[in-house]
Amino acid sequence: MDRIMQSRMDRGFMRHQEEYENKALQVLRSGWYILGKEVESFEKEFAEYVGTKYSVGLASGLDALWLAFRVLGIGKGDEVIVQGNTYIASVMGITINDATPVFVEPDPYYQIDVSKIEEKITDKTRAILVVHLYGQAARMDKVQELCKKYNLKLVEDCAQSHGACFGGRMTGSFGDIGCFSFYPSKNMGAFGDAGAITTDDPELARLMKIYRNYGSEKRYHNMVVGANSRLDEMQAGLLRIRLKYIQEINSERASIAARYSEGINNPLVIKPSVAEGSESVWHQYVIRVPKYRDALMKYLDKNNITTIIHYPIPPHLSEAYSYLGMKKGDLPITESCADEVLSLPIYGGMTSEEMDYIIGCINSFKVE
Ligand SMILES: *Cc1c(COP(=O)(O)O)cnc(C)c1O
Repeated sequence: MDRIMQSRMDRGFMRHQEEYENKALQVLRSGWYILGKEVESFEKEFAEYVGTKYSVGLASGLDALWLAFRVLGIGKGDEVIVQGNTYIASVMGITINDATPVFVEPDPYYQIDVSKIEEKITDKTRAILVVHLYGQAARMDKVQELCKKYNLKLVEDCAQSHGACFGGRMTGSFGDIGCFSFYPSKNMGAFGDAGAITTDDPELARLMKIYRNYGSEKRYHNMVVGANSRLDEMQAGLLRIRLKYIQEINSERASIAARYSEGINNPLVIKPSVAEGSESVWHQYVIRVPKYRDALMKYLDKNNITTIIHYPIPPHLSEAYSYLGMKKGDLPITESCADEVLSLPIYGGMTSEEMDYIIGCINSFKVE
């Protein structure tokens, strides 16, 4: 058997290859490549899917995050609450605006621990950034309650949660703004970089469209210092096809996760679980291996299975954020996640042979 990669995009593409290729040709031949009919249609269809009034296409997930705080007017002197165990881009969305991230530890499901948010709220707190990590929806009822009580903005990082619901409602529709990435390896992946925001607020949607295009609504009339963060016609067109199949994509991932959960049986390995009321679209299948994580990773690698750690260095300990002055021990739960988690291979088009082989290898792992 060939080496099993942690994630691969080619097999998902091949599922509907002809449709993608036809769309690509259609866009190429249209002679219109930036902000056209495909982007407009995608924005409409995506907002409808998430259940918001508006969606605005952008160039990446990071842009969605930093522009979200920008249009909400959050910047210097403001604090934004975010979970410690997230991809560093979530935090960059805050700090690009010169706002200060305030970290909260995760719960056993790797989502923000809603029982630990309130103690971090100060008179400088302006917003909560919820990251629906690994595809699982965070406890949105509690988060919304806190936002209401303290008059805070709510931003959702949905880069890993396309289609995941909490209490039957889709992530990206709870907050003032939902931020999406369509990086190729995400559940709804583009064929290059792409992102979007969702919102019910027409003014925020309008501002987002201004910011993504150099700060102008009318050409050469620049109201604010914006960005070039336009979603292009090619990605928008291809994403419309992905959106058509998102249910299929997510249920395939769910069945891979179910097979792992059923098959993996090793006392050294803790399997992931989903909180009551939450749903996961299984962006990652993350096991936890206290003490022997690195040994298991090496063992799997020797057996031609690639795994990845999401994420080995938590943002508060990364070099980029040394200026925050935080040190090891400040977020012990976050840090133990970084030391113990391991993401198994998961992707569209994974074969049963591949799954069974991985399960067999994990079950045969032991320490002398
Ligand atoms: C991928 C990701 C991002 C960044 O998205 P890009 O499109 O790569 O900029 C942000 N937050 C989380 C949680 C992600 O997984």
